[in-house]
Amino acid sequence: MNILPYGRQEITQADKESVARVLQSDFITQGPVVELFESSIASYCGSAHALAVNSATSALHLACLALEVGPGDNVWTSPNTFVASANCARLCGAEVDFVDIDPRTYNLCADALAIKLKAASDSGGVLPKVLIAVHFAGQSCDMLRISQLADEYNFRVIEDASHAIGGRYLDKPIGNGEYSDICVFSLHPVKIITTGEGGLALCNERALHERMKLLRTHGVNKSNNDTDEPWRYQQTTLGLNYRLTDIQAALGLSQLERLDAYVARRHELASRYDAELTGMDLTRPYQSSDSYSALHLYPILSSSKNGQGDERRQLYHAMINQGIGVNVHYIPVHSQPYYQALGHRLGDYPQAEAYYNRTLSLPIFGSMKNQEQDRVIEALLASQHLAKAA
Ligand SMILES: *Cc1c(COP(=O)(O)O)cnc(C)c1O
Repeated sequence: MNILPYGRQEITQADKESVARVLQSDFITQGPVVELFESSIASYCGSAHALAVNSATSALHLACLALEVGPGDNVWTSPNTFVASANCARLCGAEVDFVDIDPRTYNLCADALAIKLKAASDSGGVLPKVLIAVHFAGQSCDMLRISQLADEYNFRVIEDASHAIGGRYLDKPIGNGEYSDICVFSLHPVKIITTGEGGLALCNERALHERMKLLRTHGVNKSNNDTDEPWRYQQTTLGLNYRLTDIQAALGLSQLERLDAYVARRHELASRYDAELTGMDLTRPYQSSDSYSALHLYPILSSSKNGQGDERRQLYHAMINQGIGVNVHYIPVHSQPYYQALGHRLGDYPQAEAYYNRTLSLPIFGSMKNQEQDRVIEALLASQHLAKAA
């Protein structure tokens, strides 16, 4: 049976021609097309700087390094995210702590954050050096509130906007940096636009950008050589090889032209789901009015009688059996064995855990056809019936 995936890329003739031009040029690793891609992204988002790297995971790591996250520091994030949002802090030797989610948006809850900060501050406990705000499913967190708390409690903010390129918050593009220090996008094929693998780190502060740029290439700087020994390069810090290639950047540049159309199409599909799912025994995702979501995901909640996820499990299998590639986003990060071994406990973040037990992501992607969506809706109707009959 041909399985309809929950997300997939679209590669057009124009994409192929863009990539082919690079393959015929002198540069196939990082070169002029990466620079053009970076400046195009920065101007699309209204940020001063954009750095292209080989994944969002790398971008998150560089962001933490640039903000000087290290041993003895604390980084807070949402438990409802991909493990990379927390791992980046661990890779720098820092401790990770979580803030429970808002049961309406499934994003890190600003009220819970305020309470946790106050409790830590009052008791002389540990405050975060950095908060990583994840824009789940493409919908912005309450960045206004988060940035106010950042000022009050003196921490820095990274937006993990892996789901949110092309989205907006308070009528401005996500990535413009008004409410954070660094904003990260993912260019993985299931995300909104792709470079195969790839990521971006945007910021307005030149020093942060320069630090991430240096760390992207081994901590080695070649450009400030004014000696008569042009072969010289200087390693001034310990860095990595997180470069994107011009081949990939050419794909990204070509995809960027369709970004707005893809997000608009995702909105059409979501509206159609909203209408067709009305009356079913499911919870549809809430869209907050201050955000124009990039709609990376369309997560529904199954009905829940016992709260242990039995209905979701049934619905998952019923959909897969009908060729619909539903998925689950996310297994709470603190429940992973690695984080359990660090002392995190089940029950610590009840909203994220309750959400996880019921959630199911329906297929949604920029090139999805109405007929493909009809298959999902029909399968859902049949599954609901199956779930009830079971
Ligand atoms: C996909 C994703 C990442 C990692 O992105 P890569 O580009 O695959 O490294 C990080 N955070 C979130 C929330 C993601 O969805």
